[in-house]
Amino acid sequence: MAEKTLVKQNQKGTYNWNMVVVLTLIPLIGVFGTGIYVYNQGVVWQEPLLLFILWFLSGMGITMGYHRLFSHKAYKTNVFVEWLLMIFGSMALENTILKWCSDHRIHHTKAETKEDPYSITEGFWHAHIGWIVKNGSEENNRVRGVKDLKSKSAVVFQNKYYFTIGIIGGFIIPLAIGFIYGRPMGALLWAGFLRLTIVHHATFFINSMCHYFGRQTYDIKSTARDSWFVSWFTFGEGYHNYHHKFQWDYRNGVKWFAYDPSKWIIKGLSFFGITYDLKEVKENVIEENKLNNIKVQLFEMFKISGSKFKKMYYNKVESLNKKSEQLFELWSDMEIKYAEQLSKGKSKNKEVLRALIAERKKYKEQLNRIRIDLQGIMSSIKSQKLKPNLT
Ligand SMILES: [Zn+2]
Ligand SMILES: [Zn+2]
Repeated sequence: MAEKTLVKQNQKGTYNWNMVVVLTLIPLIGVFGTGIYVYNQGVVWQEPLLLFILWFLSGMGITMGYHRLFSHKAYKTNVFVEWLLMIFGSMALENTILKWCSDHRIHHTKAETKEDPYSITEGFWHAHIGWIVKNGSEENNRVRGVKDLKSKSAVVFQNKYYFTIGIIGGFIIPLAIGFIYGRPMGALLWAGFLRLTIVHHATFFINSMCHYFGRQTYDIKSTARDSWFVSWFTFGEGYHNYHHKFQWDYRNGVKWFAYDPSKWIIKGLSFFGITYDLKEVKENVIEENKLNNIKVQLFEMFKISGSKFKKMYYNKVESLNKKSEQLFELWSDMEIKYAEQLSKGKSKNKEVLRALIAERKKYKEQLNRIRIDLQGIMSSIKSQKLKPNLT
């Protein structure tokens, strides 16, 4: 009976008022408190700089640490870096690694279902912050699926002292730095409250905005979207459609020019052996996925638009489909052949690599033509559907 009452009190949907107050006060103090302080006391260069440094460190603690390292094991690193990322991540005050990763892994495996803690199907607000300020069900509050992380010393230590580490790193240290240059309140407002507001809502936007606005290049059936815009203030986490499709990849912005500083730092550190075993989806697999995503949309269009468009375009789509399948098969065989050559001798590796890149380019060009044709068919179906029926 007592258990039943507890569950009732902790019902999903009721508000956790402590969290409501904390998550209201932080941005209020961060935005208005800092604004009033600047109005009265002006700005000194140390304050925006301190905000930027702590924003970068705590943001990277979340993206490089909590997300790509601990949740997805997209790469490996040494214990020292694990500890650093744990400390920086704690400064973001987004809960412990164990709880964050538990929620996040469920978000991926159960996306868009009732079990997804920040499911977009329950609305933009719920995915953004509602799920944090509401009481979750007993099941949602449970930490699960993170046994593998419990052997890590940084994770075990953080689980005991999370709040202390977060408060010292996120508030006490900026305050102490502020004392050094004579404006402790300024440092606390800029690098404590305002910085935390930015870090929090940037992460929250990945769960809300990146399941709402943007492209579905890799998986049309997923609500996750690629948004270069969100990437600009989340250290590269905006490419969320790609990420949901290939969550184990250490990159989120897969194109070399896609703004993803987390990816660049992980890759950069690998040249010094600090990070290693970087997981990367092969280019041919990514391309095949992209093309399949267009085909899925076309076949779906045929299904819902009756026989008219099917009659007009089906044979053309089928022949392009076959052609692309053949190309992907050849590309895959070519990759195996080159991998064998590369594993043999190191003396000619540069030449072999150059030849491999040239071969890849050829396949990409041919597949690109097929993609343009398929996209052309898709747009002509869309435009014809929009035309008024004159018959
Ligand atoms: Zn997501
Ligand atoms: Zn993820």
